[in-house]
Amino acid sequence: MKKIAILGSTGSIGTQTLEVARENGDIEVLGLAAGSNIRLLEEQIREFHPRLVAVWSEDKAQELRVKIADTDTKVVSGMEGLLDVSTMSGTEILVTAVVGMIGIRPTIEAINAGKDIALANKETLVTAGHLIMPLAKEKGVSILPVDSEHSAIFQSLQGNEQKAIHKILLTASGGPFRGRKAEELLEIKVEDALKHPNWSMGQKITIDSSTMINKGLEVIEAKWLFGVDVDQVQVVVQPQSIIHSMVEYVDGAIMAELGTPDMKLPIQYALYYPERRYLPGERVDFWSLGKLEFEKPDMETFYGLKLAYEAGRTGGSLPTVFNAANELAVSQFLKREIKYLEIMEIIEDCMKAHKNIDNPTLEQILETEAATYERINSRR
Ligand code: NAD
Ligand code: MG
Repeated sequence: MKKIAILGSTGSIGTQTLEVARENGDIEVLGLAAGSNIRLLEEQIREFHPRLVAVWSEDKAQELRVKIADTDTKVVSGMEGLLDVSTMSGTEILVTAVVGMIGIRPTIEAINAGKDIALANKETLVTAGHLIMPLAKEKGVSILPVDSEHSAIFQSLQGNEQKAIHKILLTASGGPFRGRKAEELLEIKVEDALKHPNWSMGQKITIDSSTMINKGLEVIEAKWLFGVDVDQVQVVVQPQSIIHSMVEYVDGAIMAELGTPDMKLPIQYALYYPERRYLPGERVDFWSLGKLEFEKPDMETFYGLKLAYEAGRTGGSLPTVFNAANELAVSQFLKREIKYLEIMEIIEDCMKAHKNIDNPTLEQILETEAATYERINSRR
């Protein structure tokens, strides 16, 4: 039995992780954490019998305690609760599927406790990769990518040497607004941006995919996971999302991972690595597919991607500004408080105003996040 805990168990990645556990039957789920969906948490507790569950708000945690009083599951709350689940005894792998840089402290503490990390929560690596990667190395802990592109890169690296990487070819669907220019994006509504052509995901990452900022975060994520410079990462638009990413080696050979868009593949690969398990579902049929297309991304219209390269190249606290500004701007857009194009404007404004800190500590990262939020909130 593999023993795991999941942060963000009620979300898109969290629920698919539980599906993988259910279908395989040899994964024991010892801990769960989620924001506020206690109705779903209760169902998950009754099916998987975790020992420990964390709910973000204490009020909701108390409600859940009453609902599941007939079970042996203990319910905790707040950041302390998240840390308890991250470091609980007995687990081998922590699946980090919370959204946003709230995942930094739990990830660091899980590594300190010797847990392998199945990492979906890219915002954590974008902002604190310089702390997390050396710490994982020191503790002998594996960081197993769950993000589909990074899983594809990881799979394409098997049997090859990391130092022979010439380039990473990070594929992107281009999102729902591929081909549009800025003037055609002025009146984008929340509903339009929530329609992703190929993947069904949580709201924040779906908006990020539409702005190409998700790809920007992934460029920086790749830098940390695979030890490359951001300029070795080339974004290639592949509208069908069949090629999930590629590695070009020094001799010009290119290795890729292809498949139908299904997050259960990278989740399962991370949980059982290096073993491959059967996965039910649709397969790629090249006879009916006919062709694959490729394009260069439009970094003038979707200049959030260009800002990500700048943040990743500069390093220090700038990626935190990039990420934190995006997190708040996206949540304001989802609440219909700002217009679509303001997301990119806000990020650019915050990055321009920032005095970069080299090699920031965890405290400085969190201070930078707070300062970025303050700047954005004082705009209105
Ligand atoms: P989601 O919005 O569907 O789920 C987020 C989960 O985090 C929920 O369970 C929510 O309750 C929980 N959460 C939020 N705030 C919390 C808090 N303060 N304390 C505890 N739990 C909290 O998001 P998602 O689409 O599953 O994405 C999760 C992460 O995985 C993101 O970093 C995203 O970029 C990454 N990712 C997602 C996909 C995908 O297909 N959905 C693909 C690649 C990477
Ligand atoms: Mg991805």
